Amino acid sequence: MVDLLDMHKMFLLAHIGPGDTVADFTMGNGHDTQFLSQTVGKDGHVYAFDVQEQALRNTRKLLEETCPDNYTLILDSHANCDKYLPQTIKGGMFNLGWLPGADKSLTTRRESTLPAVQSAIAHLAPDGILLIAVYPGHPEGTLESQMLDDYFRTLSRFQMSISRFQIINSPQSPFFFAVEKK
Ligand code: SAM
Repeated sequence: MVDLLDMHKMFLLAHIGPGDTVADFTMGNGHDTQFLSQTVGKDGHVYAFDVQEQALRNTRKLLEETCPDNYTLILDSHANCDKYLPQTIKGGMFNLGWLPGADKSLTTRRESTLPAVQSAIAHLAPDGILLIAVYPGHPEGTLESQMLDDYFRTLSRFQMSISRFQIINSPQSPFFFAVEKK
């Protein structure tokens, strides 16, 4: 069976590679930041955001041991990403929800997720990609995924292609949206 997470990475790798500038909008424990850093290599750059110092500490430790020096870790909400990002990024990841093993009340929320996704799309280069993993298994995750679905349906198909990948006989399982800019 194809693992949804592997599929997630397959999408990213079709759009990003060495030398690209990308962003991880929900750094967490740094696994996605690490994947992005290793994919874009020493000539690329990763901007990574989180609101928790613990996320920055965990990510810094992981990256120092395994990645080139090609990242900027930012302690701020992804809703403020405009202040930090260059004009364009080739790719971005959102892995919504809370930091595994930490305070669940510090989950991502609709009021900051929507402006962050809108800014990320505004910064996306031609042929760029955004991947957004959502967790409908908890109440805020359900509302977040519905909000994003509603928003994405309003965007022009001439400018971007937006797909949703979900196990339809397991509707509570995590799924992802892929936003590909034409
Ligand atoms: N990508 C991470 C990894 O590979 O370990 C997992 C991310 S975790 C599911 C979600 C993260 O989003 C948490 O660390 C949480 O602190 C962070 N978060 C919550 N609200 C945020 C916001 N407004 N801006 C940036 N990060 C936020």
